[in-house]
Amino acid sequence: MGKNSDAFFQRAQVVIPGGVNSPVRAFKGVGGTPPFIEQAQGSRIFDADNLQYIDCVGSWGPMILGHGHRYVVEAVKKAATRGFSFGAPTLGEVELAEMIAAAVPSIEMLRLVNSGTEATMSALRLARAATGRAKIIKFDGGYHGHVDSLLVKAGSGAATFNVPDSAGVPKAVTELTISVPYNDLEAVREAMSDEVAAVIVEPVAGNMGCVPPAEGFLQGLREICDDSGALLIFDEVMTGFRVAYGGAQTLYDVRPDITTLGKIIGGGMPIGAYGASSSLMDYVSPVGPMYQAGTLSGNPVAVASGRATLSVLKNSSIYADLEERSAEFEEGVRAAAEKHAVPLTINRVGSMWTIFFAERPVTDFVSADKSNREKFARFFHLMLGEGVYLPPSQLEAAFFSAAHAKKDVSQMIERVDRVLKKIAWEYEK
Ligand SMILES: *Cc1c(COP(=O)(O)O)cnc(C)c1O
Repeated sequence: MGKNSDAFFQRAQVVIPGGVNSPVRAFKGVGGTPPFIEQAQGSRIFDADNLQYIDCVGSWGPMILGHGHRYVVEAVKKAATRGFSFGAPTLGEVELAEMIAAAVPSIEMLRLVNSGTEATMSALRLARAATGRAKIIKFDGGYHGHVDSLLVKAGSGAATFNVPDSAGVPKAVTELTISVPYNDLEAVREAMSDEVAAVIVEPVAGNMGCVPPAEGFLQGLREICDDSGALLIFDEVMTGFRVAYGGAQTLYDVRPDITTLGKIIGGGMPIGAYGASSSLMDYVSPVGPMYQAGTLSGNPVAVASGRATLSVLKNSSIYADLEERSAEFEEGVRAAAEKHAVPLTINRVGSMWTIFFAERPVTDFVSADKSNREKFARFFHLMLGEGVYLPPSQLEAAFFSAAHAKKDVSQMIERVDRVLKKIAWEYEK
């Protein structure tokens, strides 16, 4: 990277493992070293060497309005002036909870936490408390944060760096987790028993790259859970307020028992939430026997950012615009790939997408993992050179935001076309 970024990365590696506070940022999935980001505005991020990129990472999902949205920034400033944290109830928390409950069909009540990881960890505890059962079914390549019991055949960085089953997690914990292939109802039926507390699923998988649910898959999970008495958990940390205002459960019209949220509901500030029917949420302390707490939970500044973000999303045509531009991009990528005879698969749901260097459809972890990493890494670096910042791993989803104008999208298509032309030529030699 640039001179400053390289120098900062050297310093970082002395005091922070791998120089980063979350593994995928280190660029190990694509080689090279990461740019250090100094600031961002709208669809653009700027690095420490003053290079500018069209940002398709969006902080891994939260920045659906783009960076520095004026209304959100004002709300955050105002909240920060009033006080950072009180450890006592505030009206803002209630208002954010009301907005989420109104938007997400399966949520009547919710608890705010500080990250997606905390949300899924608490959701599992709730499912176990409510059913009195211990086992959990998840999907290969599904990522639900770094919760001990969910670091089994996990996606995201865990898959990118070949540690799908993390060291440091006792076998006694992972023995309770069963992982089966995504989009495979038969495998779920086989794994199901009266010991299973919950099935946890990304309703659109985003952490093995973007992999949409097959027709009937989510409905099938609902039926299997109903038959067995297990609870269905939709991990909508990524898809919530992303694929539709009410999340994937609105888009696909399937109601989970428990929903987890994060990312967009904080608009870039640290937050998470888990929600369900009032009768399920009554298990949560101080009403019920399931303990869960947090010193900074419902943080007033994070809540202000979330409320402002959701209110902009609610009163707008953002989802329709995102769909239109993202569809145009998808078409442009397909056309360029065909023109230059580069075999690839682009998966997309709304503004969430992945370009896989795979010749066959990508429908689960095995097919995602068959992608050509070397070609992806080349594509990634050529795109970076063209001023486009993509997720630095084949197994991650990219995003458009409301700040990605029509012009940004057409620029991106031109750049993809140039880069694929080069790749076709290089790989032919
Ligand atoms: C990002 C993500 C998480 C983890 O959220 P953190 O805030 O990083 O802890 C959990 N589940 C899904 C589906 C995610 O995309």
